[in-house]
Amino acid sequence: MKFKYCPICGKKLEEKYSWDEGGVPYCSKDDIMYFDTPRPCVIVAVVNKDQILLLKQSYIYKNSKVLLSGYVANGETVEETVHREVFEESGLKVKDLKYLGSEYVNNNGKEIIMLTFMANYDGGDIKKSSEVEWVDWSHIEDALCEMSEDEIGKRIVKKVLKEINYTGKKAYRCDNDSCSRNT
Ligand SMILES: [Zn+2]
Repeated sequence: MKFKYCPICGKKLEEKYSWDEGGVPYCSKDDIMYFDTPRPCVIVAVVNKDQILLLKQSYIYKNSKVLLSGYVANGETVEETVHREVFEESGLKVKDLKYLGSEYVNNNGKEIIMLTFMANYDGGDIKKSSEVEWVDWSHIEDALCEMSEDEIGKRIVKKVLKEINYTGKKAYRCDNDSCSRNT
């Protein structure tokens, strides 16, 4: 988000030169530079052998399941966000976090940098949070079909299939992206 006014005192921001960023909106009263940064969030594919944990949130996608996700809170590491969000949304513990790359999204001015992970199930029973409509294990071979609308989620699942050395074809039967089908 590009700041025009100081969120603390309301003063119109001036431009101050920062050696590596160029001109940055600056409040001289509070002596703060407001860098233009996206909000970091995590997306996590929780895997238990051939099962993957999926959520249903109609406000995100009406007919599609999604992976677990959440914003990084100030004061925590990204790894802590992964553990916290998975536990909050599903009641499960995870281990063996593996970073799978990032995705940048600008959704109607909502600028988000998504840090994507896979993690292995490490205990606990599913206990759905009240903020979640539905959460349960799906067979990894059904994930791409069940996540029809979630393009980013599907890209992550395809990375997970490679990570677990999946060699079958069934998992890709709903994937109509012909470029990636043969890779
Ligand atoms: Zn200010």
